[in-house]
Amino acid sequence: MKEIILAYQGEMTLKGLNRGKFEAGLAKSIRRRLEDLGPFAVRSAQSTVFIEPQAEGLDIDEAFRRVSRVFGLVKLSRAVCCEKDFDSICAAAESYLGGRLRELRTFKVEAKRADKKYPLKSPEICRELGAYLLSRHPHLRVDVHDPQLEVMVEIRDGGAYIHGPKVPAAGGLPVGTSGRALNLLSGGIDSPVAAYCMARRGLALHHIHFASPPYTSLRAKLKVQALACELSEYIGDCVLFVVPYTKPQEYIRDHAPAPLFTVLMRRSMLRIANRVAATTAMEALVTGESLAQVASQTMAALACTDAAQDLPVLRPLIGMDKAEIVAISRRIGTFETSIEPYEDCCTIFTPPHPKTRPHLKEIEAAEAQMPGLAALEQAAAEGVEKIYIPIGQDPDAL
Ligand code: ATP
Ligand code: MG
Repeated sequence: MKEIILAYQGEMTLKGLNRGKFEAGLAKSIRRRLEDLGPFAVRSAQSTVFIEPQAEGLDIDEAFRRVSRVFGLVKLSRAVCCEKDFDSICAAAESYLGGRLRELRTFKVEAKRADKKYPLKSPEICRELGAYLLSRHPHLRVDVHDPQLEVMVEIRDGGAYIHGPKVPAAGGLPVGTSGRALNLLSGGIDSPVAAYCMARRGLALHHIHFASPPYTSLRAKLKVQALACELSEYIGDCVLFVVPYTKPQEYIRDHAPAPLFTVLMRRSMLRIANRVAATTAMEALVTGESLAQVASQTMAALACTDAAQDLPVLRPLIGMDKAEIVAISRRIGTFETSIEPYEDCCTIFTPPHPKTRPHLKEIEAAEAQMPGLAALEQAAAEGVEKIYIPIGQDPDAL
């Protein structure tokens, strides 16, 4: 019997006239994720995506794992399909799930009838199939409240689908359906989680990283590249822009009042990110900032940072505790790479007493004393290195 994957659409089912765009985006993401596993047919009907292997021996375990990371889906199941006549349904349920039932003591049947013309109603399907399975496995008992296995039958236009319980999928909206943004990716814990959160809301993302050699090493850059690879499982193919940031950063260090250094540097980073975003039509910047986490993330400091340039700055972690961010980081698989001990340009030259309540006026006055900065920022933006990050690249091979 051929096993297929049923992937259930999430929030996008609430979309009105735009729904076709969301379905197309979702199907595109799924096809791209499965491309190198062999031929799979991907089609949508009745709020479900049907993912069917088109050849023998395809790796359905790996396909299932990959689809579980595609945004736009709330649940997944592995299923078999059969004719809608009742004998076929009984035979398919027995051959697909009979082995599991032999090991258990309780079960129940759950039926869903999307094909309303089907002669049996859902409660009748449950009763009849339940009776059949009991006749094959007399040791079993039906437990409608807390069964060890739920046998599910979905009667749809194209056939009957039999499966066990659905499992949670990645949620959110298909990547690319909410626009494009540039994510400021450091090597830390927060910014990969920020990228994950925004991609989950349907944003297509590229990353920008600021490197200041020789203060930051090649290892630090490779770590960021590894994080971008790990994130590509969720956000898809992307580009990592690496900005040669040493000169602007040294210039700020040499000309800034020390307590304002960090905010001045962050404004400079955002201005450069804005220039890079403009070259690839990206509509927002994303950072991993969280309110009051460090001196540059107080309300006053964030307000000064925002005023540096005109793209919206999205900060999905703004209201999260570090423990919550760490939990997401572990779940999505970036934590172990994030905690590797390499330096970041944001933590070099840090003053001992950064000002936590900077005023925009004093920031602007300090920038007026840095006439050479704009040209250095322009040169850094123009000298950006572009690293293509395709889905499926092995981060350990870097
Ligand atoms: P993270 O864990 O993401 O490094 P953090 O708590 O260490 O965050 P900061 O170092 O102040 O905080 O950086 C705040 C945000 O600025 C980061 O989440 C990231 O979006 C961005 N950022 C910091 N350093 C860099 C860098 N070298 N290149 C690109 N973006 C950076
Ligand atoms: Mg950091």
